[in-house]
Amino acid sequence: MITPREAQTLILRAVKQLPPRLLPLAECLGLVLAEEVAADENIPPFTNSAMDGFALAAADSMAAGQERPCRLRVIVDLPAGSSWSGSLETGQAARIMTGAPLPQGADCVAPVEDATVEGETVSLRQSLRPGKNVRQVGEDLIRGVVALPAKTVLRPAEIGLLAALGRTQAWVYPPARVAILTTGDELVDAGERPGPGQIRDANGPALIAQVQAIGALPLPNLRLPDRRDAVRSALAESVEKADLVISSGGVSVGDYDFVKEVLEELGAERLFWGVAQKPGKPLAFWQVRGKPVFGLPGNPVSSLLCMEEYVRPALRYMMGHGLLFRPEREGRLAEDYAKGRDGRLNFLRVTIEEREGSLWVTPTGPQGSGLLTSLSRAKALALLPAETERFPKGSRVTVQMTDWPEDHGLSELPEEKRC
Ligand code: AMP
Ligand code: MG
Repeated sequence: MITPREAQTLILRAVKQLPPRLLPLAECLGLVLAEEVAADENIPPFTNSAMDGFALAAADSMAAGQERPCRLRVIVDLPAGSSWSGSLETGQAARIMTGAPLPQGADCVAPVEDATVEGETVSLRQSLRPGKNVRQVGEDLIRGVVALPAKTVLRPAEIGLLAALGRTQAWVYPPARVAILTTGDELVDAGERPGPGQIRDANGPALIAQVQAIGALPLPNLRLPDRRDAVRSALAESVEKADLVISSGGVSVGDYDFVKEVLEELGAERLFWGVAQKPGKPLAFWQVRGKPVFGLPGNPVSSLLCMEEYVRPALRYMMGHGLLFRPEREGRLAEDYAKGRDGRLNFLRVTIEEREGSLWVTPTGPQGSGLLTSLSRAKALALLPAETERFPKGSRVTVQMTDWPEDHGLSELPEEKRC
């Protein structure tokens, strides 16, 4: 059996980035930019007022003081969106709103709060410097500079920048289309009442949610009976339609575990089956006609854990991300834990608490791979190395911060995939 790290490496070697697509900005949030965006205009496009107030020549306010206000004649009103081709002369001011172009002859703006207006005259008791309360043309971006480098993750600020530059679309790595198959004769829909021996399909909705959380696009869940022909046609169709295929269940050594056989009949190349980990040991990974196919174990905790550890980094890579993994911290076990002599890396579901300068982790209770509540209560995963059996209270362990959105660096990518 291979180690989790080896499994990750095999997967990341196999997957490829999706071809970039030109998508409307409304579909770009969270996606990775596949082009370098240069500013082909200045932003702001014209020098304008940063305040509601009065535009004037700073020189006219030079002598102003508390006792000796300067008085200027207001000759024009300049709301945002206006454009005035006139020019201010000495002793004149313009009433101006935030965002309106600064008129010729003015080089600063006195805020309305500092001005006293009587009829068409404005009095100022402070002198102003040239440039005060003025936003200069190109102050944000000068034409020709790189506004957004390729590989930028598009957050709301970047979407705004693209729009400001006149872009309605951007070249991005598209969301991967992910087919989700759940197998098992015992499964019924969440809305159904299970008969004798039946349970509700928890994995279908959970895997869809996980794919959504990654920012990829889940195709409608296919729930399949443990019948070779049904599994075969669904897998063949999924490989056709999707960029990546996930099946849950049917990869163990049970009599009805057809997924492996069927995939191999379809010409799949198996990269591994079985990972020295708990939970999630029966995880399998294939490539079928260039498409990655994950065989996740059916137990709900195992399948979600394998999504987190293996499918998530693969999808992020396919979608152009450079950062693939969750942050890791050193933590300390808040209680004794015995994992036994299983020779597998254990992903321990834990809660976390910062105390005495350390991150203390507490197991969320029994760790069975069917116990979804233990995963629901968890805030992180503590990694218990394969070779160690007993972990006394206070033991130092690596903690994966699975609730933290940031991902840590490139160090674990196979060499040839590093940017
Ligand atoms: P399998 O990997 O198919 O042998 O399934 C392992 C265990 O997970 C069995 O107890 C199944 O009933 C359970 N299981 C499989 N698929 C699902 C599912 N979609 N939702 C909830 N439990 C499942
Ligand atoms: Mg099954």
